[in-house]
Amino acid sequence: MERTLTILKPDCVRKQLIGAVIDKIERAGFRVVAMKKTRLTKETAGEFYAVHRERPFYGELVEFMSSGPCVPMILEKANAVADFRTVIGATDPAQADEGTIRKLYADSKGENIIHGSDSVENAAIEASFFFAAEEVVRSN
Ligand code: UDP
Ligand code: MG
Repeated sequence: MERTLTILKPDCVRKQLIGAVIDKIERAGFRVVAMKKTRLTKETAGEFYAVHRERPFYGELVEFMSSGPCVPMILEKANAVADFRTVIGATDPAQADEGTIRKLYADSKGENIIHGSDSVENAAIEASFFFAAEEVVRSN
């Protein structure tokens, strides 16, 4: 079993798509082992995306990610990291494959509904960014 970290981004929450997106995630075989609704500050959003600090879109990304509540989750499945990237689709929804979450629901490359970790190592770092050990519960 492998774990990945996802965030239903503020646009997902604003568009009342939390349920629709979690339905897609569960139907794809992922189990939710941790979940919360929270709101990032500019500081915590900046820290989460620190790897992109030098990129031209960083300021906008930090503004967007702190613009409203989000729903981080830890998901479990065999090959979770790579399989989840397939389920969410390309960063730019215009480039995403049919049926992917971003193709279905995202408006733009910036406001693209959902985050997915890009490696097993980063998944563990990102999971501990949002969740304490006792918040991670395998129920089935
Ligand atoms: N992003 C953006 N413009 C870009 C590339 C990325 O606004 O040209 C935002 C977008 O919200 C993306 C996030 O920055 O999801 C992180 O970028 P990354 O390249 O890691 O894409 P992801 O892993 O989310 O597909
Ligand atoms: Mg990324």
